[in-house]
Amino acid sequence: MEIEIATIGGYEEVGRQMTAVRAGDDVVIFDMGLNLSKVLIHDNVQTEKMHSLDLIDMGAIPDDRVMSDIEGDVQAIVPTHGHLDHIGALSKLAHRYDAPIVATPFTIELVKQEINDENKFVVENDLQKMEGGETMEIGNGLELEFVHVTHSIIDAINPVLHTPEGAIVYGLDKRMDHTPVIEDPIDMKRFREIGREGEGVLAYIEDCTNANKKGRTPSESVARRHLQDVMTSIEDYDGGIVATTFSSHISRVSSLVEFAQDIGRTPLLLGRSMEKYSGTAERLGFVDFPDEVGMFGHRKSVDRTFKRIMNEGKENFLPIVTGHQGEPRAMLTRMGRGETPYQLDDGDKVIFSARVIPEPTNEGQRYQSENLLRMQGARIYDEIHVSGHLCQEGHYTMLDALQPKHVIPAHQNMKGYSGYVDLCQNQGYELGRDIHVTHNGNVISLVE
Ligand SMILES: [Zn+2]
Repeated sequence: MEIEIATIGGYEEVGRQMTAVRAGDDVVIFDMGLNLSKVLIHDNVQTEKMHSLDLIDMGAIPDDRVMSDIEGDVQAIVPTHGHLDHIGALSKLAHRYDAPIVATPFTIELVKQEINDENKFVVENDLQKMEGGETMEIGNGLELEFVHVTHSIIDAINPVLHTPEGAIVYGLDKRMDHTPVIEDPIDMKRFREIGREGEGVLAYIEDCTNANKKGRTPSESVARRHLQDVMTSIEDYDGGIVATTFSSHISRVSSLVEFAQDIGRTPLLLGRSMEKYSGTAERLGFVDFPDEVGMFGHRKSVDRTFKRIMNEGKENFLPIVTGHQGEPRAMLTRMGRGETPYQLDDGDKVIFSARVIPEPTNEGQRYQSENLLRMQGARIYDEIHVSGHLCQEGHYTMLDALQPKHVIPAHQNMKGYSGYVDLCQNQGYELGRDIHVTHNGNVISLVE
């Protein structure tokens, strides 16, 4: 059976992921993501109203025109998890393919919201739920399997396409967490089985975000312990404490909620995306927040809540807000600019349970936001966080578990791939023979 892999987007950058695998006459697409930094760099761009071709020209979504060179029928579009760099282009591209979108329940729910917010295209692809650990028949003699993985968002999977020539494992995005906070550990047992059964693994596409970092990515339980230590240390502070983190990071948000209560404060989730992700997770039963937790998305209701906090005393609350990257319109940035009723006083604490995404736009915005907070007397706790992506030791473990014939580094640029190429070479792989460093819009033929 002929096997080829089209590396469509996210092979020269972190963002706008899209990969297509053709096995015989059947094609499966993994991810259709958005490169948000290409959107944010322009003032007031409203992607909901924009045409795909304009977004492709901006470098914001994958250029899927290479799909016309792929001779097969698309049988499924499979987003791996709910981060925008993996689902953010579905509303712009999925309608061009006559195929269902297959994903885990939490991811499907977020995809549904993306599609509903879309103003330019009508996306009517079937939405099919499949859980980690489940499989489905696909096309002619193929099987799609979801292996549960751990990442900085819940309900993430690595999809595996089983073909007569061996398995294609799509490894974006994950870290190897054996003690995650609110869900099951990564299913390493299944990866090891896949590496040893049938024809083994023909190709492994790997998340190289942290491939230049030595050692091991810590577990989410380490970030949780760090957060607990910080919050307990300020338990007796009788002024304002404000926290921020990735809205989609449900495990972290739930730890913040828990520790807020431990130190006698009512947790309040404030900001549009805080309400969106936490509300969805609670509705689907992934978390069960205590009744006193308030969630407010719209600016007016957030400002009303800030007024209530000022009336009843800042020492009774922990606002958990958007703005960990200094995004200009997020709540924390508005607080820094003094645009909300919440007033920061000398010595108030601001906890960033996040790391700045190392990219000039983010770094600049975060610098500005932090300075505005400091000018009002705020004291900053930074980097109470662990990454959601494998470092080098995790990559070694995956190679050992899967023993793939071919490896394809992804989710980085050329510089970012170097660490992964090095460690693969240490394991006997050879650049150009079975390590395929590729670029956007390329087609790799594995079996002719
Ligand atoms: Zn991700």
